[in-house]
Amino acid sequence: TKRDGDQPEFLQAVYEVLDTLQPVIEKHPEYEANGVLERIVEPERVVKFRVAWVDDSGKVQVNRGYRVQFNSAIGPYKGGLRFHPTVNEGVIKFLGFEQILKNSLTTLPMGGGKGGSDFDPKGKSDAEVMRFCQAFMTELQRHIGQFTDVPAGDINVGAREIGYLFGQYKRIRDEYSGVLTGKGLEFGGSLARTEATGYGLCYYTQEALRVLKNDSFEGKTVVISGSGNVAIFATEKAQALGAKVVTASDSNGYVYDPNGIQLDVVKDIKLGHRGRIKEYAERVPGAEYHEGCSGVWTVPCDIALPCATQNEINEESAEALVKNGCKVVCEGANMPSTPEAIAVYQKNGLLYGPAKAANAGGVAVSGLEMSQNSYRLSWTFEETDAKLKGIMESIVANTLAAAKEYGEEGDLMAGANIAGFVKVANAMVAQGVL
Ligand code: NDP
Repeated sequence: TKRDGDQPEFLQAVYEVLDTLQPVIEKHPEYEANGVLERIVEPERVVKFRVAWVDDSGKVQVNRGYRVQFNSAIGPYKGGLRFHPTVNEGVIKFLGFEQILKNSLTTLPMGGGKGGSDFDPKGKSDAEVMRFCQAFMTELQRHIGQFTDVPAGDINVGAREIGYLFGQYKRIRDEYSGVLTGKGLEFGGSLARTEATGYGLCYYTQEALRVLKNDSFEGKTVVISGSGNVAIFATEKAQALGAKVVTASDSNGYVYDPNGIQLDVVKDIKLGHRGRIKEYAERVPGAEYHEGCSGVWTVPCDIALPCATQNEINEESAEALVKNGCKVVCEGANMPSTPEAIAVYQKNGLLYGPAKAANAGGVAVSGLEMSQNSYRLSWTFEETDAKLKGIMESIVANTLAAAKEYGEEGDLMAGANIAGFVKVANAMVAQGVL
């Protein structure tokens, strides 16, 4: 705590995991003997660098870049890049730490890493975003590689940014390799990667509902926050599974559409011209817009899928969800629930699917993109989507089995932490003290 006292998000992520690992440590004295806990919370490497670029008016801008190479026990570092003004070392470390266990849960050979910058792409021209990405990759390229560290997208890093980053890597290294995932389909990207996190979240939720409650999305009212990559494709799949999604949001506010969100309108606003969600209510009769994003949790629903950002559901929002009848919270965003919110879910017996399991579909398909790049072939959408569905269903099964083995039957959170941890811990013990 002393060492990372200025990194509250990182400490929050670590404590949540450590709280559930006690029975595992008791059963495996070799973890303690090999200092596994002390080692797993310390990144193998943190790279922090200056990113200088020139804006459209000719002014020099300076941002800070990060890459946290957290753990490589079970594969090359793997995790997204986030461009957002709130990015700092503690945020990237929380995301990197979560990523270790998430990647382990996918069953694919990927270690944990994360990176990004405090650069804010909002309001920047394409040319400015390109110059920033080129400057960012000019430094990052010396630290990554297809067998070392394979970054992907995250908040504000989508197809456009990955394209610019890949181009600059290739130009500097003179090497055409699968060094990034989430690439365009013309240059090594995988079908179904764009949809993977949102679709995977719904496959996970559907399977957890089936196994634990003998229930499904059919006929349910769903509240989803965000309107980015994860939110859009979670909405699409929840609708396909028979649910009515009634909200969408961004950092300014949320829309409530009692008739069910028209996803083509959201896609046109967000993917078409990077607009604000407020526009939805101007275009769709019967929809309401409300300023402030946290109000979205006061909308009555059966299932809530937070898909925007960390700590977006606090205790008060969790209480509001429960009061209005919500029975299920599965997390598309990383760590969207505060510890107090999780305590509210647990006290009220909600089905709670934690991020590191529920949103693992994105990195799972990134792992499949790496396999396709190595084979130099491309699978069809149906093939990749079927693999994704299988992975999400096995995450539910494996986490419930781990929970049962360690006396936490039915606990998806404890199960995810335990199942993710044990594989990495065993690899760390086998490879010696490093
Ligand atoms: P996008 O950039 O596509 O979308 C982010 C959405 O969240 C936008 O609607 C954005 O609104 C909103 N948002 C971002 N920051 C805040 C904030 N501080 N307060 C309120 N709203 C905010 O990102 P993704 O959809 O890719 O990522 C969303 C979440 O899912 C993140 O937690 C990410 O780590 C997680 N995730 C993403 C994966 C992926 O494959 N993309 C994989 C696994 C997890 P605005 O436009 O106003 O900023």
